Amino acid sequence: MFPEMARNPLNLLGKSPEELRAFLQDMGEPTYRGRQIYHALYAERRSNFGAMTNLPAALRERLAREAAIDLPKIVRTYRSDDGTLRYVLSLGTAAESENPNTKTATIETVFMPEENRQTICISTQAGCSVDCHFCLTATLGLIRNLTASEIIGQVVLALELNRDALKPQTNVVLMGQGEPLLNYEAVLAALRILLDPNGMAISPKHTTLSTSGIIPGIEKLGLEKVRPKLAISLNASSNEQRDKIMPINRKYPIEKLIEACERYPLRTWEHLTFEYVLLGGFNDSAQDARRVARLLANLRVKVNLIPWNPGELPFEKPDPSRVEEFRRILTEKDVRAFVRYSRGQDVMAACGQLALLESTGGLGSSTLSQISPATF
Ligand code: SF4
Repeated sequence: MFPEMARNPLNLLGKSPEELRAFLQDMGEPTYRGRQIYHALYAERRSNFGAMTNLPAALRERLAREAAIDLPKIVRTYRSDDGTLRYVLSLGTAAESENPNTKTATIETVFMPEENRQTICISTQAGCSVDCHFCLTATLGLIRNLTASEIIGQVVLALELNRDALKPQTNVVLMGQGEPLLNYEAVLAALRILLDPNGMAISPKHTTLSTSGIIPGIEKLGLEKVRPKLAISLNASSNEQRDKIMPINRKYPIEKLIEACERYPLRTWEHLTFEYVLLGGFNDSAQDARRVARLLANLRVKVNLIPWNPGELPFEKPDPSRVEEFRRILTEKDVRAFVRYSRGQDVMAACGQLALLESTGGLGSSTLSQISPATF
């Protein structure tokens, strides 16, 4: 279905209009062809040059020799009973064509079909350095940052593979492997294409970046002209508690994080999302709920409560009555709160679950740590 990935030719996937224009100029071709390639690549999702019928045949042939469109390679696909698809993708060749020093990597992308839309959850790093204790990606450490091409390639690939079943709306959530704000430049380069009405044309209202709370990244993102919605992974009601499960909290403690959120320039239609994984007996008490309500009192927010999925890590599933009580307390304090049950649990595509034990025989990749697909 997709062309073989080339080693030497320049990979055009992930390139901006300016970069494509410069590439065409270097080829001695008219620079306006760059805009046409941009349209074919992203608006029409052409994954081989032969199908770019808006270009003259001679240029198509030349591009096929001198450039490439490198999509991630599918290693394995898992299909859940609820229709969720989890793709295990290999990025080795795509990365090598851009930077011979980058390591090969395996990541995951999840496609969740719903009645009138699909949600695609993508990874931004292979592994992660943030070390949240409820997340198995953390056990890998950081393998490497993904390139803009690899980030956007996950969306293109997931849409292509499900081309015949696509619904009118596509949501993209940056909640797979990695901390997006620690791979800032590549993530933003990919988002500028994803959110460009002349590019992939995904609405900023339907795109969510989830962070563990990297304050400098949050501040930088707030200044961007083009940006997705922002979600913060909170998961605790006090510093003492958060330090225990999210060591990043020692660097960016809760009060500083909340202050950064209060300064964040929300657009008129926008709210912040706070994700709160409920770990039974750890952070799910009524007192926790009251503390969370106090923390968020001055923010325009929505809270997603995500009951912990039983898995390999030593946390308990919360009691359903405590989940409901938590939600009720937040709602009573005027904090909008929703309980989100993850989909795709039988293929380990759900929040906080152990991901693949691949054919390599070990922990070949990791968990999609933050999925709450009904959310977006
Ligand atoms: S939850 Fe997110 S930020 Fe934390 S270790 Fe997992 S992937 Fe990294």
